[in-house]
Amino acid sequence: MEWLYLVIGLAVLGVLVLAGFVTTRTRRTPPASGGDTLAPPREDTAPTGTDTAAPEAPEVAEAPAPTPTLEQPERPASRLVRLRQRLAGQGTLGQGLLGLLSRDRLDEDTWEDIEDLLIGADIGVGPTQELVERLRTRLRVEGGEAADARAVLREELINLIGPDEDRALRVSGEGEQPGVVMMVGVNGTGKTTTVGKLGRILVAEDRTALLAAADTFRAAAADQLETWGERVGLEVVRGPEGGDPASVAFDAVQRGTSAGVDTVVVDTAGRLQNKQDLMDELGKVKRVIEKQVPVTEVLLVLDATTGQNGMIQAKVFSEVVDVSGIVLTKLDGSAKGGIVVAVQRELGVPVKLVGLGEGPDDLAPFDPGAFVDALLGGS
Ligand code: GDP
Repeated sequence: MEWLYLVIGLAVLGVLVLAGFVTTRTRRTPPASGGDTLAPPREDTAPTGTDTAAPEAPEVAEAPAPTPTLEQPERPASRLVRLRQRLAGQGTLGQGLLGLLSRDRLDEDTWEDIEDLLIGADIGVGPTQELVERLRTRLRVEGGEAADARAVLREELINLIGPDEDRALRVSGEGEQPGVVMMVGVNGTGKTTTVGKLGRILVAEDRTALLAAADTFRAAAADQLETWGERVGLEVVRGPEGGDPASVAFDAVQRGTSAGVDTVVVDTAGRLQNKQDLMDELGKVKRVIEKQVPVTEVLLVLDATTGQNGMIQAKVFSEVVDVSGIVLTKLDGSAKGGIVVAVQRELGVPVKLVGLGEGPDDLAPFDPGAFVDALLGGS
């Protein structure tokens, strides 16, 4: 009889050990301890991987299982500086404008050249006329020294972009709830990449996050996200290929809530046959998420190199979902920084993030002052 108890006891113990092992594999490792410094990537390679070793390692001299080294993403504050090198080199807008404004005589032809330059940089006709008007008035009143021209241009460009817009990302939810960020936009704009990059920003700020691969039409998108997640220890929730995106989003938010993460970032599909499909699907994803928690931010991803064409597609999205911020990607490859002004005007929402390149940390919070400095180049 006693042996029977012994066997049952051993079986129960076995189940407990197995359950413990499974739990350690699915739990997100807490981020490396914070600190207020804006220090470059930390060197520590402490075992922060998701594959934590079993609690009681045998004493046999066995090589420890290699734990994946998690990357420490760069803190966002220092990132926009990179834009300076990547935009200023092209010099079309800032340098061109400065060249024209520093001419000895600002005659009508010169003002027309200035207008052409601004329109060519995709600022849009309305904002161009406003800016030229302001510049003409101020330079007439304040005189036309080259140094002044630069300062006046800087100030007026910043005013045009909107220094007082609220560009903060809503990544936190109420109380214990996670914040939910939905990423929407046409395929190819850099949506999935931006979900991954945003995950890294959150990690850099010592937040916990979970990524949801709700672009179920593209298996590659989910794989892509898993790679992004693995590099910094973020869990990714995905569903079957071609499955219901709303159900992936629902599962992800449920998982994020029970795991107690700060933010769930949801990738969505962008290749839809028509506006009605788009409306139905994105609307459903949002509604289904909001059965659990409110969506705190809807970011529309726009490719800066597509100029006015991209804007037409963007408008469709903004009619379908309540966009709360714009991510302007591929600004590094665009000679048309003026698109920042145009998209904000046309869509009525602020640019909150900008994509500066293909590197994992080439996504920066948008700051009008730093952006204009990058446009104008030099010092
Ligand atoms: P999606 O279809 O919208 O999800 O687009 P992806 O995230 O797959 O990105 C499409 C391509 O754009 C990829 O090759 C990205 O590396 C690239 N990309 C994304 N953001 C940027 C950026 O800011 N700059 C540059 N140069 N390339 C980017």
